[in-house]
Formats: sequence, structure tokens, C-alpha cells
Amino acid sequence: MDRFDVTPTGRNGRATVAVLGAGISGLVAAYELQRLGHEVDVLEADERIGGRVFTHRFAGQDGPFAELGAMRIPVDHHLTLRYVDTLGLRGRLRPFRNVLSDPDNLLRVGGELVRVRNAAKPLIRYTEELAGGRSHRPEALLLVGWLHATVRALAPRELRELVRRDTGKLLAAAGRLDLTPYLKDDRPDLGAALRRHPELWRACSSRLQSFLDDLIRESGTGMCHLAGGMDQLTEGLAARLRRPVLTGHAISGIDVRRDEVRVRLGRRGRAVGYPVVLCTIPFAVLRHLPLTGVEADKLDVISTLDYSPATKVGVHCRRAFWADQGITGGGSAPGGRVRQTYYGTTGKDPSRGAALLGSYTIAEDADLLGRLPEPARHAAVLHELRDLHPEFGRPGMVRDVVSVAWGERPWHRGCAARRWGMSATALAREVERAARPQGRLFFAGEHCSPAPAWLNAGIASTLEAVPRIDDLARRTGAWYDAGRSA
Ligand SMILES: Cc1cc2nc3c(=O)[nH]c(=O)nc-3n(C[C@H](O)[C@H](O)[C@H](O)COP(=O)(O)OP(=O)(O)OC[C@H]3O[C@@H](n4cnc5c(N)ncnc54)[C@H](O)[C@@H]3O)c2cc1C
Repeated sequence: MDRFDVTPTGRNGRATVAVLGAGISGLVAAYELQRLGHEVDVLEADERIGGRVFTHRFAGQDGPFAELGAMRIPVDHHLTLRYVDTLGLRGRLRPFRNVLSDPDNLLRVGGELVRVRNAAKPLIRYTEELAGGRSHRPEALLLVGWLHATVRALAPRELRELVRRDTGKLLAAAGRLDLTPYLKDDRPDLGAALRRHPELWRACSSRLQSFLDDLIRESGTGMCHLAGGMDQLTEGLAARLRRPVLTGHAISGIDVRRDEVRVRLGRRGRAVGYPVVLCTIPFAVLRHLPLTGVEADKLDVISTLDYSPATKVGVHCRRAFWADQGITGGGSAPGGRVRQTYYGTTGKDPSRGAALLGSYTIAEDADLLGRLPEPARHAAVLHELRDLHPEFGRPGMVRDVVSVAWGERPWHRGCAARRWGMSATALAREVERAARPQGRLFFAGEHCSPAPAWLNAGIASTLEAVPRIDDLARRTGAWYDAGRSA
């Protein structure tokens, strides 16, 4: 069969639906539409399925792996967890250890690398210097110091600058609070302090405030991951589809007509007509395709939606040397170009080595690494990792390095829709415009959700689109008998 020979057929009021993109949104859509009785063609440009779920296995199925896309599931992401359950994967959920969660994780304070367990004094000194010598209670200096450290670990450069500027206001607010309940461990419970004291929140500039929810989530507990790899979700959904996902099927244009949607496939540009289409292609890609029969406002949101990049670098090591130093998980925050390093484990067979996420960067930091040619990117990360752990420099320790610069990948051109700092009204308006269907062409994906950048977001937008697609198919009856290609 020609790789572009897709021929939609339909019967008895059920439609053949085309789903464009085989990420979590497209795969959940296909699974749910199939359950409703529809035939579904999933057309995916890449040679692999999963989109931004990307588990790289270094040494076969049972070897160590690095998550180059999504790696954790917040416990309140009920929609993601619903599909974990659907696929019988609940028993594989394990707590996810966030950055700086292990007492032996490392962070850079004032140029020095220190362990979490020893970070209190250097952080107090650092915050005192930032405050310009004015006297503050040590508890306040420590809490604000940890807020700095966490923002520096997780946030883009712009927000790292903001937290420095907000130091005085934060210290003043923290100085008025009883902080003892939050300072019991090596590392203060920042999330609890921020949740219980809106005055801390208000001491931050508005752009920084819009990042605090992510900061609380990504620095606290309450996340899990799938032992064995996040791709079990996407592979599991694909395995339940009657029709195999058509990988290597790049959509090169979409034409919305009154009674069908024509999707153009591949460089040769053959068009295939479908009675209904769900598009989950990221807008950063879609804006470069010819789209006809689409209203001007829709074209506008497709071309202007802001995307943030991310770059991840996975490293395959001969063994998990970090365990010798007492590190049992979590992540270090060495700063520099690496920013975050998450410690992994061996696979089932320790002789196949161990993997870790050498570097995770977002926004400008992601571009800095992502725009380097791959060998230079890997060399830069390894160079800085040797400063964090000299073991990386030992002969034979590093077996392989892989990376994904999501901002540079042709089928993504970004990591996630960026909606920080938007007013509630602007946010609701943008999401409505992004998700609004055009005739028989529907839209879903993380970018069609008010809380983007998570698997849950893509699934939520899909579950909104599916009943509308089903309704259209039922109302219009058996309106498709054979595929038409031109
Ligand atoms: C580095 C990184 C870390 C993340 N961490 C987490 C996390 O820890 N937890 C979490 O919940 N979420 C995380 N996310 C977000 C999560 O991965 C995404 O929100 C989610 O996977 C998006 O799914 P989607 O189906 O909407 O889009 P995608 O997965 O991008 O799927 C879209 C699909 O469309 C395909 N496509 C593009 N162009 C075409 C074309 N022309 N023709 C046909 N197909 C095309 C793409 O190849 C892709 O497969 C992370 C994302 C990244 C990048």
C-alpha cells in the first residue's frame, strides 16, 4: 500500500474521522471516538508516535531510559490518571522526586555548589547580601533564600531577574510572619508558606506570581511518574486502536469545505477528503501550512499563539555513580547552561548501565542549548556536568548522550503554549479562539486548554471536542460511504 493511501469509509451514521497528530491528545481522541463506534485514521508526520511523550531507551526495552518529553504526573491531574487506569498502569505509578528534594542534591549559591542539607547558611548569607546589609530575621532570610534558589532552578531568566528585584518586598512580608511551621527540614516547605500567606504572593511582581503555581507544583511533593516509562501511556492507547496509526504521514495543507475537510498529505500533495477532522497539530507548526476555508480570526490565533521552547539532554552512564554520594533521586540545580539535572536509575538489568536527565532547560535557556549543533550541545552539557560530578569525566563513564530541542523540531517548534501573566479574560478568550471549530474541522491539544503544558491539558481539550464530533456525525447521519482522493 502507498504510504499516503488512506481511504476513509463510513457506515450507519458513523463517520471515518481523521485525527491529525499522534500525541496524547490525538491518541485519546482516536480511542474515545472508536469507543463511540467511529472509524478513525490517525495521521502522524513523525516516524514515531507519542509527540511530546518521548521515552528514549538506551539499551533495549529493559535498559535505562531518559524522558525527553513529559516525565511526571501531578496527582490532581485526574484526566491523565484516568488513562493510566484505563491502560491498567496504576500499579506502575511511583512518587516523582522533584528538583532539590534529596538532601544530597546540589545547588549553586553565590557561585559555590552546596548540598541541600548544607544550604541554609550560604542561602542566608546570599539573601542578606542581596538585601543590601539591612537586618532581617534569619527565618525570613532563609525562606526568601529558598524561594530564590527554587526560582533559579526552575524558572526562565526573566523571572530569575524579577525575584532578585522583589527581594526587599519579600523579606518585609516574610519578616511579619511566624515561619516556624515551614522551617522544620533541611529545606523549608515553600509551597505551604506560599499557599497559606497571600502576602508573600503579593510581594512578587505579577509575572512572577503567575509562575508560583508551577513553582509550588514542581518543587513540592504530589507528583508521580510511570515506572518503566511514560511512553506506556501513548503506546498503550495506540495498541488499542483498530486501525494502526499512520506514521510518516505529514499533513501539508488543510482545506475546509462545506461538506468535508480535505487534508493534503506529504510533499506530493495528494488530498484526501474526510467528513470530519480533529487537528491536534501544534499551532507553531500549523501556522506554516496552507489553510483554506478558515476564518480570519482563527488564522490569527494560529499564527500568533506564543510557544515556549524546552531542551532536554539524556545521558547514559556505565553505572549510577551518584548513588555512591547518597543521592537516591531528585534533581540538582547547578545553574549555567545545564540548569536542572534529574537522577535516574538502572533498568531491570544493571549491566546495561544507568541513565539520568543531564539537563532540562526552558525558555531562553532552552534556545541557548537548542540552537547549538547536537555535538556542541552535548559537549557543552557534559563539560558543565563534570563540574557538578567529576565522575562524568572518568574514562568509559559516559556511554551515550541524546537530546531533544523541542523548539527546533519540525513537528513541534516549541515545548508548550506560553500563557504566563495573561489576565483571566485574555486567557479565556485565547483558549476559546484556539479551540473553536471551523465547520467540520475541530481542534484539540495542550494549546487549546487554559492550563497548557501538561498531558492533562491536551486530554481535557480532546474530551471537550469528542462529544461535539460525535454529535455532528450522528446529526448528519450516514453521510460518507467511500473515500475520495484527488
Ligand atoms: C520537555 C517537556 C517536558 C514536559 N513535561 C511534562 C510533564 O512532566 N508532565 C506533563 O503532564 N506534561 C509535560 N509536558 C507537556 C506534555 O508533554 C504535552 O502537553 C503533551 O504531550 C501535548 O500533547 P499533544 O497531543 O497536545 O501534542 P503533541 O504531543 O505535540 O502531539 C502533536 C502531534 O502532531 C504531530 N504533527 C505535527 N505536525 C504534523 C503534521 N504536519 N502532520 C501530521 N502530524 C503532525 C507531532 O509529530 C505530534 O506527534 C512536557 C512537554 C515537554 C516538551
